[in-house]
Amino acid sequence: MHELSIAEEIINIANQYVPSDNKSEVLFVIVEVGKLSNILPDSLEFCFDALIGDTQLKGAKLIVKEIPATVECVDCGNISEIENVIFHCKKCESSKVKLIKGNELKVIEIEIND
Ligand SMILES: [Zn+2]
Repeated sequence: MHELSIAEEIINIANQYVPSDNKSEVLFVIVEVGKLSNILPDSLEFCFDALIGDTQLKGAKLIVKEIPATVECVDCGNISEIENVIFHCKKCESSKVKLIKGNELKVIEIEIND
């Protein structure tokens, strides 16, 4: 399962930011997930909850923000957000575009109560 290994990766990243004194409680871990990464947010949250069981992240809530796919047009320089995988520029309809956002996974914020 794709989401399981991603949840593990998020936990590894989050752990690097949590002080190891065991006194801090992690409230939220916020991640940005590109729409084209094929990650199902519900499934990712489920895996995260299952994996944090007895770790120092116990009780933390994973918040998944979906980032639309964004392309930049090579012909006119316009930047568009696209809904599907047919890449084209919304301004001049050129199909010469490069993907600039949309397949990333990023931990953007970790809120710790200490
Ligand atoms: Zn264009």
